[in-house]
Amino acid sequence: LQTLRKEMIEELAEEELTAMDLSQRLGVQEKEVYSHLSHIAKTLAAQGKKLVVDPPRCMSCGFVFGDKKSFTRPGRCPKCKEQRIRAPRFRVK
Ligand SMILES: [Zn+2]
Repeated sequence: LQTLRKEMIEELAEEELTAMDLSQRLGVQEKEVYSHLSHIAKTLAAQGKKLVVDPPRCMSCGFVFGDKKSFTRPGRCPKCKEQRIRAPRFRVK
């Protein structure tokens, strides 16, 4: 578990990635990646670093999902009800 989180941090320090990218690179489920991200944010804060989140946004109307604590990909836009949501991207800084 610690190793997986460490690998995620290393990948995110290299480049900005989605949870899908991470799941493919590390061979784990996408939902598992999401479950680790909040822990990683805390780990990084303790190290004086930061998990930067480029929030999910609606590809139809441009609505940006503002809740920074939510790392998951929303299923539907609250504004236009479309389901074309761009996944959030993560980066370590
Ligand atoms: Zn929308």
